[in-house]
Amino acid sequence: MYDPQLELLIEPSTHPHSEAGRAARLEAPGFGRYFTDHMVTCRFADGAWSAARLTAYGPILVDPAATALHYGQSIFEGFKAYLQPDGGVASFRPYDNARRLADSARRLAMPAFPEDRFVGLADALVRQDRAWVPTRRGESMYIRPLMFATEPILGIRPAKEYLFVLLAFPAGPYFPQGVKPVTVWLSEEYVRAAPGGTGAAKCAGNYAASLLAQAQAAEEGCGQVVWLDAREHRYVEEMGGMNIFFVFQDGETVTLVTPELTGTLLPGITRASILQLAPSLGYHIEERRVSVDEWRGSIESGRMVEAFACGTAAVITPIGRVKSRNLGNWTIAGETFGPVAQRLRAALLDVQYGRQPDSFGWMHRIL
Ligand SMILES: *Cc1c(COP(=O)(O)O)cnc(C)c1O
Repeated sequence: MYDPQLELLIEPSTHPHSEAGRAARLEAPGFGRYFTDHMVTCRFADGAWSAARLTAYGPILVDPAATALHYGQSIFEGFKAYLQPDGGVASFRPYDNARRLADSARRLAMPAFPEDRFVGLADALVRQDRAWVPTRRGESMYIRPLMFATEPILGIRPAKEYLFVLLAFPAGPYFPQGVKPVTVWLSEEYVRAAPGGTGAAKCAGNYAASLLAQAQAAEEGCGQVVWLDAREHRYVEEMGGMNIFFVFQDGETVTLVTPELTGTLLPGITRASILQLAPSLGYHIEERRVSVDEWRGSIESGRMVEAFACGTAAVITPIGRVKSRNLGNWTIAGETFGPVAQRLRAALLDVQYGRQPDSFGWMHRIL
């Protein structure tokens, strides 16, 4: 079947999971472990995107000279669709992901994928695999757009051929045992991003470069790395795949502070949503630099009462303890899930699951 509006050829899988097989996977979906029955692919060649195809999920043929494998022109996105109280399905801010993919593409000298088409194709995939949308509390369907260079030419220049891919998978609750504060490691040895680099792009290479520090953090008993600025190793930037917020309290006044977007941070959509939402909950917001000294000092003085990380996968994760080689070790809020982080998390989830009115127009109805 061909959908002319989406320029999408729909060729349903001839071997979808049985109902029992799907149910078994939905019983304990994990994160990125089991994919749905279909995927979307769309090729770029001769200066244009072709018709897309919705086909059975499965391996794709890639030339070993494809430049993404050698030189790393590879970018991705991630957003979620949620079951709504009336049985429908809606995704959270997909147009923002479409725009960010286009921004990442620009930074890596790749062609942009049209933003309306990005959303339309993601909707088509969710509609096709609607039976995979999990129904239990805290679960969702995660959509993973990916785009990489396929041109088999090892001269160094932007490739002229690309593949855009959409995958989807059922995602279990990030904290099945309840939200638990994470211990973080301040990386003094490695940097994630430098001024002028690719820190603001959601590209594969940023992740590859972070894995060694992540392994080091794990050895130190930490769940996440906190990256510091490349110049002075002094200012807090973000975590491996989440942005950071600090909660300051002065009498009745609660202020959420998050590092400003300097070009070395990934502009998270959860971050932007919290900044938009916070004033309606009575919180002040500030985007500015926060040094490690200020972090430690304001915990000691009691001015900072909470710190948390935020991103699509886990929504909000409280930070309970900070460890480092030379910059000190401290705990935050007695390693509890603080009330501000709790309230923000609940408010975001309520909008995403359609339990509260969507006053910011964030939700995109699919079904
Ligand atoms: C994706 C990502 C985030 C979080 O972005 P969201 O849009 O909120 O999911 C933060 N930091 C990095 C490095 C990321 O890749």
